[in-house]
Amino acid sequence: MPIFEYQCQQCQHRFEVLQRVRQETPSPPTCPRCGSQEVQRLISRFHSNAWSTFLDRLESSLDRPPV
Ligand SMILES: [Zn+2]
Repeated sequence: MPIFEYQCQQCQHRFEVLQRVRQETPSPPTCPRCGSQEVQRLISRFHSNAWSTFLDRLESSLDRPPV
């Protein structure tokens, strides 16, 4: 399972989230410190093209409203 690293935009707290690849509509994580959903994903551990492609596809699916 990939580990996604996020940084909270409210309190700048960094945290990691384990996310299942098969989860098609992952809910946005919340900051464990302040509970804010304004978090930004950091890409620091994976730099392969395959991984970037996967993240791009995941991101575009996140932008889409749930059907
Ligand atoms: Zn926070």
